Amino acid sequence: MTLTEKDSLYLWHPYTQHKTSQTPIAISRGEGALLWDENNKEYIDAIASWWVNPFGHSNKIIADAIYKQLTTLEHVLFGGFTHEPAIKVAEKLIEILPKNQQKIFFSDNGSTAVEVALKVALQYFFNKNEKRTTIIAFENAFHGDTFAAMAASGISFYTQAFQGMFIDVVRIPVPVKGQEQESFEALRNVIQNHNCAGFIFEPLVQGAAGMVMYEPEALAKLIQICKEHNVLTIADEVMTGFGKTGKTFAMDYVTEVPDMMCLSKALTGGTIPMAITTFTQEVFDAFYDDDINKALFHGHTFTANPTGCAAALASIDLLQTQEMQANIERIHKSHLNFQKKIEKHSKVITARTLGVIFAVEIKSDSEESYYGSMRTKLYNFFIDKGVILRPVGNIVYILPPYIMTDEQLQKVYKTIEEAIEMV
Ligand SMILES: *Cc1c(COP(=O)(O)O)cnc(C)c1O
Repeated sequence: MTLTEKDSLYLWHPYTQHKTSQTPIAISRGEGALLWDENNKEYIDAIASWWVNPFGHSNKIIADAIYKQLTTLEHVLFGGFTHEPAIKVAEKLIEILPKNQQKIFFSDNGSTAVEVALKVALQYFFNKNEKRTTIIAFENAFHGDTFAAMAASGISFYTQAFQGMFIDVVRIPVPVKGQEQESFEALRNVIQNHNCAGFIFEPLVQGAAGMVMYEPEALAKLIQICKEHNVLTIADEVMTGFGKTGKTFAMDYVTEVPDMMCLSKALTGGTIPMAITTFTQEVFDAFYDDDINKALFHGHTFTANPTGCAAALASIDLLQTQEMQANIERIHKSHLNFQKKIEKHSKVITARTLGVIFAVEIKSDSEESYYGSMRTKLYNFFIDKGVILRPVGNIVYILPPYIMTDEQLQKVYKTIEEAIEMV
């Protein structure tokens, strides 16, 4: 039996309708921006394997750091114990995060990072004896697939089976260009009519919605409105963090600071599942009490796994090298050139770039759903050409590893141009 035959016997894949989907491709190795399948066909990984891998596959520096940690202390429980790798990650993050972020809480993936932030927002007011139980989130937000994260997410087919079972979430429009005032007004209304605990948002770029972008000034305004009403703000940087927007964090573009931040995906350079939620001292202090009931009773077995911490430390070091910063700048400029060229195409509605993130919306005769027919046609075309891109409806986006070469980037652009001709 081939790997794909065995796969179909035993495995259940994420976001997959197994009856109608194609068989998955078995990948056997990766290096840099490239992956090879079991038949040795080569693919350019133009989406950094779901946005996790900035420094390339099988990165030797991160692998060495992981090996060294595995053979020193692979894991120890974090309840009642601590260790140097966790402390070093915390020190490093506090140095590079917005200045008000002072406390670091570890978990395992982006959804749990969000789950922790939402629970903290709700318990913060519980601890203060204030009845505030509503969470504010953007339309078409994506914050993960666990229950509170799902509640905050606004892409309906991910969550429709669970409607009515969620924590209380009220949605406001994203302040995209021209709709800023509607968004501000909606936020003011929600705050006036509900007991709001927190506002969670993907800063500047909504990833899963199709790389929808909005301006830092608009986000600053929304945060200001929240601050006026003592509503906690949560920046979900699971996708945008660690250089993707051209700065270390998307919040680095914004003049206001959030109360909490969620990190994962590129945190460990795409090697080991790990996540972090960060907090201000003020948030932490609402749990700091003689009363044990005011503690945050949340944890995961693998919390602050030392091997994950070692991977995170090596990754952040890599991100901070001049070489990597130059790579980010190079890809950004390259995207801008491609955008200039492609946005004039008659089949293109619009194109946009922020940092290494590029997206183009293609004209379509019919309403394009998330996993609709145009999306399938595009996806298959890209795979056939050896380029891994996962369009969202009629939106094709690139989020390459920062080490992607110019030659590889040009091939990705060329393939997208051919795809636009084809559909
Ligand atoms: C991917 C993502 C999540 C969920 O992370 P998982 O590791 O898949 O659970 C949450 N928020 C944002 C913005 C994401 O892009």
